[in-house]
Amino acid sequence: MPQYQVLVIGAGPGGYVAAIRAAQLGFKTAIVEKGKTLGGTCLNVGCIPSKALLASTEHYHFAQERFAAHGIVAEKLSVDLGAMMKRKDQIVTKLTGGVDFLMKKNKIEKLTGKATFLDANTVEIDNAGTKTTVTAEKFVLATGSVPVELPFLKFDGKTVLSSDHAIALTEVPKSLLVIGGGAIGLELGSVWRRLGAEVTVVEFLPRIATGFDGQVAETLRKSLIKQGITIHTGTKVESGEVTKGGIALTVSAEGKTTKLEAEKVLVAVGRRPYVEGLGLEKAGVALTDRGRVKIDAHWKTSVPHISAIGDIVDGPMLAHKASDEGIAAVERMAGKPGQVNFDAIPGVIYTNPEGASVGLTEEQLKEKGVAYKSGSAPFGPNGRALANDATEGFVKILADAKTDRVLGVHIVSSAASELIAQAVSVIEFGGSAEDIARTCHAHPTMSEVVREAAHAVGGHPIHG
Ligand code: FAD
Ligand code: NAD
Repeated sequence: MPQYQVLVIGAGPGGYVAAIRAAQLGFKTAIVEKGKTLGGTCLNVGCIPSKALLASTEHYHFAQERFAAHGIVAEKLSVDLGAMMKRKDQIVTKLTGGVDFLMKKNKIEKLTGKATFLDANTVEIDNAGTKTTVTAEKFVLATGSVPVELPFLKFDGKTVLSSDHAIALTEVPKSLLVIGGGAIGLELGSVWRRLGAEVTVVEFLPRIATGFDGQVAETLRKSLIKQGITIHTGTKVESGEVTKGGIALTVSAEGKTTKLEAEKVLVAVGRRPYVEGLGLEKAGVALTDRGRVKIDAHWKTSVPHISAIGDIVDGPMLAHKASDEGIAAVERMAGKPGQVNFDAIPGVIYTNPEGASVGLTEEQLKEKGVAYKSGSAPFGPNGRALANDATEGFVKILADAKTDRVLGVHIVSSAASELIAQAVSVIEFGGSAEDIARTCHAHPTMSEVVREAAHAVGGHPIHG
């Protein structure tokens, strides 16, 4: 019976990164994955395929809408959806193969099949009926999450879609209802809108992009509406039925009930932790009231030699959060002071423009009664933004009123996902708005708008 020092269960961005760090720290490590390829949700059906489709459709949309202004004449533009999907699949294959390579390079044993605890140190691995048993001294649980289903709308992959289906359609639907105005709804809604579908987003809360700063959410809402997406906020989906023509939803808003119809519906109302069949009860691992695996500040579950990370534990369901927890949890196992700064985890919505945030939002600062200063700058006058034809959006920096320490940075821009990294570093180092304002930024770059917002915090914008 094989013996490992560390067995990682689940090879998503949490699990595979944890396995690499464990191997680097000298643990005899194995990783078990039930899927055909490594990389988990993120690489196979999440972050990467969605971003590939967002990039392709953004090019198409830009060619349609903006080429003429650039003096480029492109006649008879059309889409070969098969080729677009093939490109996406090739990127996924390259990256998941890359994770395989990393496992070999780090001498991590790859075990294929679904893992189930038989007791707190023994796991059975079922690979299409062939069962093996392994033991380990320590475990990292990283089994991730799956899409939430609405009780009255079961996923069928044809009319009622989860994100797994919506990244792999073979035809552009005439119309698509999207339930949920979070990251998945807005990103995949954008993909299919750009390809010509009539897209309607139905969001239960009064605003889209919950969790982001209100100004970011409102700017994105206006921009997406301009792009032709219909957005109903404060609207609850009461029921839904598959009809001959597609789907009919009964929705209610402000006490009024109406029907919305479309060819397909994407249900993007969140994801839930996946621990089914893992045998946690046999290992003695406890869950929280909300069904996530209960951990302490060092990612230890109720059974100290079993740690848990990523989407199955509390916190935002993000790939980089899962990876950071993987590293920190394994470092703790090795007696090192691994940690994650939960105040400096960036969040991005990859629409165009993108929305990106780190730290506290203006709403949170008000709620907490923190005295703060705010400085904003738009991309409109920025030279690089004009050259790039990407002038939509702004940077907003929120800093402590007394100390000037940066508490939150919120960006809407086509480059927001890259620009936010600078803000994350400043928050991580406990830096001030003045630190950003005094830092030289290359010209012409979009990053100069971050600096300009920092100048605005100090009350002396250069170009304002
Ligand atoms: P997962 O990636 O879910 O991996 C868990 C793995 O465990 C899976 O491979 C699963 O097969 C395996 N597994 C489960 N149970 C067992 C078992 N018993 N035995 C063996 N193996 C098992 N996040 C971002 O940060 N940025 C993005 O742009 C982004 N885009 C997304 C787009 C979409 C459409 C979706 C759906 C998600 C997106 N996410 C994004 C979220 C991100 O994918 C997740 O937060 C991340 O994958 C979580 O990592 P994880 O390692 O915890 O779990
Ligand atoms: P989400 O939690 O981000 O958004 C779901 C939205 O659906 C919420 O705004 C919620 O109010 C709404 N909702 C719930 N029930 C509803 C109902 N009955 N009717 C109408 N609206 C309803 O979840 P998601 O967009 O499905 O994404 C799942 C997870 O994956 C999230 O944790 C997200 O962070 C992650 N993800 C991240 C990215 C990214 O980082 N760019 C991209 C995709 C997914």
